[in-house]
Amino acid sequence: MKDLYSHIQKQDKEVFSALEGEETREAEGLELIPSENYVSRAVREANGSVLTNKYSEGYPGKRYYGGQQFTDVVETLAVERAKQLFGAKYANVQTLGGANANIAMYFALLQPGDTVLGMDLSHGGHLTHGHPVTYITKIFNFVRYKMKNPETGEIDYEDMRKTAVGVKPKIVLAGFSAYPRELNYEKFVSIAREVGAYAVMDIAHIAGLIAGEAVKNPFDYGFDVMTSTTHKTLRGPRGGLILTRDSEEIAKKIDKMVFPGLQGGPHMNNIAAKAVAFGEALNPSFKTYSAQVLKNAKAMEEVFATSGVRMLTGGTSNHLILADVFGSLGIPGKEAEEVLDSVGITLNKNAIADDTRKPMDPSGIRFGTPAITTRGFKEGECKRVAELMIEALKNRTDQAKLSSIHAEIKQLCAKFPIPDSFV
Ligand SMILES: *Cc1c(COP(=O)(O)O)cnc(C)c1O
Repeated sequence: MKDLYSHIQKQDKEVFSALEGEETREAEGLELIPSENYVSRAVREANGSVLTNKYSEGYPGKRYYGGQQFTDVVETLAVERAKQLFGAKYANVQTLGGANANIAMYFALLQPGDTVLGMDLSHGGHLTHGHPVTYITKIFNFVRYKMKNPETGEIDYEDMRKTAVGVKPKIVLAGFSAYPRELNYEKFVSIAREVGAYAVMDIAHIAGLIAGEAVKNPFDYGFDVMTSTTHKTLRGPRGGLILTRDSEEIAKKIDKMVFPGLQGGPHMNNIAAKAVAFGEALNPSFKTYSAQVLKNAKAMEEVFATSGVRMLTGGTSNHLILADVFGSLGIPGKEAEEVLDSVGITLNKNAIADDTRKPMDPSGIRFGTPAITTRGFKEGECKRVAELMIEALKNRTDQAKLSSIHAEIKQLCAKFPIPDSFV
């Protein structure tokens, strides 16, 4: 059901028309960007609530302003639910996004000039893990590790260990935004322990899969800290989250760095929405959802494999697939993104390991199943979507063909409306 936005409609026609446009865009197209999802009405109500009016600098029970009876309830709920979801002893729910969570974590655990060993962006890591364009690289020293073999996805742990022994990082950082496999967490933790570094995992992409127990929980392997977003597989409002497994000393450093170290007043409306989303993720139905996200990605993998399209690491063990469309079909990533957009499928172009093409027009595309699974798609629908993707790419100059594919996508969307609630 569409939102009415009745007050905006009366007051501000320009914003209203953009919101209406977005409602239709989301309803009538397929969202395959693996970092996106659809939140429930309950999450949106909390996010749009009166709590946006309130200043609450500090933490529950220790605020700099009065009038915190209700903000304290909401933040405590968010913290307790986050701890339960991830098996953490401490949680900070105030960071405004995943990048902010990482920045706060770096400043909390490091001194300027210290070294972080993280995954190379071109092999699946995230910008905030030390890409030269980010300002954080002027403050800390980032050294990167890579995959040993992009065909299997195995990280070069031996090389990573040698590098760690050589550069003595203070943080060994796991985590990725374009890597379709599970990591060997034992290896990360043992390397971190050997060189006296913190073991940190940025779970931004797979937080929901961890919470839903569809993949392993890095805390079970001894990671010290996990940073995350709340809006990807976890299906909450846009925002960040920092979890500490069991060290009170680390948790205190993180809280102090988030506020007053880096941020001002927390966005309590957003924290209320996180509490609601975490409540949904604690519901048994979220386990079913997470498992289905993986099954759906496997179903799409099958179609790409049978069609002979090269997938980095050979396929997927999580929610996303990285396909070398340039290598396999001769279509640059940017063009593939545009062709698929024209038939109502949204995904993103993406660099592949050791890409010879430029970042703005790389060889690959990245897509995933979190949002379409929220819509109710099962393996059958996902296979059909994968078939339609390949058909569209192969027939990209045939307008009649593309129109008929677009019509079928619209029908699928109409058959699976975005749900209002998941519990
Ligand atoms: C998405 C992502 C982030 C950044 O999150 P924002 O909310 O966009 O700031 C950080 N790390 C990883 C691994 C991500 O995938």
